[in-house]
Amino acid sequence: MFWRTIIINCRECGARLRKYYSGSLRVGPEFATCRKCGVVGRTGAFEWANLSQWRRIEVFFTEDVVVLLALLAYSVYVFVTTANGDDRFIAKSGIVATTGFVLLLWFGRVVEVLRSRRRTRENQ
Ligand SMILES: [Zn+2]
Repeated sequence: MFWRTIIINCRECGARLRKYYSGSLRVGPEFATCRKCGVVGRTGAFEWANLSQWRRIEVFFTEDVVVLLALLAYSVYVFVTTANGDDRFIAKSGIVATTGFVLLLWFGRVVEVLRSRRRTRENQ
């Protein structure tokens, strides 16, 4: 599943370099300096500038987002097809909640992309 802990260790001393809570494609600094030994290692993330068109789409359609969009589609379907007031209320809550979560996730990723673009511009 997508909610799994990923730990990136320093290849030199084994100290923890990064800890992620999902295995999804991530935008961020590609290299980090180990706090323990000072060796520079890969973080497992990628700068926006180094991602292909498809990988960029993948940043915004990770498994968590796809699951939320599927729940959103189902909520809309229930809302449109049912006449029962209680079911419609639950469906409406589902629409609001899933839309909110997706927007929140996307907002965070847009911020990461903007930061990444600033970083790569500074390095040129
Ligand atoms: Zn190290």
